[in-house]
Amino acid sequence: MRKPFIGGNWKMNTDSASAAELACGLSRNLDDVCNEKVDVTVCPPFVYLSAVKKALGPCQIGLGAQDVYFEPKGAFTGEISCSMLKDVGCSHVIIGHSERRHIIKESDELINRKLSAAISSGLLAIFCVGELLEQRNAGKTNSVVAEQIKKGMAGIGLEKACAVTIAYEPVWAIGTGINATAQQAQEVHVMIRELIAKLYDKSFAQQIRIQYGGSATAANAAELMSQPDIDGLLVGGASLKLEDFTKIVMAAAERKII
Ligand code: PEP
Repeated sequence: MRKPFIGGNWKMNTDSASAAELACGLSRNLDDVCNEKVDVTVCPPFVYLSAVKKALGPCQIGLGAQDVYFEPKGAFTGEISCSMLKDVGCSHVIIGHSERRHIIKESDELINRKLSAAISSGLLAIFCVGELLEQRNAGKTNSVVAEQIKKGMAGIGLEKACAVTIAYEPVWAIGTGINATAQQAQEVHVMIRELIAKLYDKSFAQQIRIQYGGSATAANAAELMSQPDIDGLLVGGASLKLEDFTKIVMAAAERKII
């Protein structure tokens, strides 16, 4: 059985004091369940990665960045390399988040280069995909998500694909308070797993973890994760609240599949 995986995407929030305080609280609350029953990774802004790493201490909560650049070093003002992320203690990196796709206008090709570079460097990737509301309303959810996966994972062989967690995040659900229903999310997760079986093989399709993201909260986490193909959550807003994120992780640790 796939171990549940909860990610916290802090986006462009916190300051140095509140980031460290949140990390200390998480390490206190979650040390017992992390790693054994559930994998947990938090993704603070770049500038607080070191402070959060220090505040997490020896607990098993992973540290992730929210983005990375594909070049190893050089004249790329403002960008951050994979080795820099590893240097400050990152195990994970989010790639292709919808805010980067739609606000920063990142293309599938750029996302593919980032994903490939991240995995080659030894980072674990949380690779985000998801449709816009108009695409869902036009019945294009599956084709949009499938295209994002095919293009994003192009040229990434089975060995490297093992370092990928896919996060299905419908854009209309992110930060809106309107989550996909467990059924809606499950349907897309099944489609993703079938696609992975075609692109790689059936056994890997059963291994790869697929998170749901989009207005996940302490109140809906257990229901979302009761679906057999929802292996965890990528959490934005609720990951900034110690109590709520703790409850979400606990729900994952006690996950009951229906
Ligand atoms: C996200 O940013 O990945 C996300 C899922 O945000 P929220 O939980 O706030 O919808």
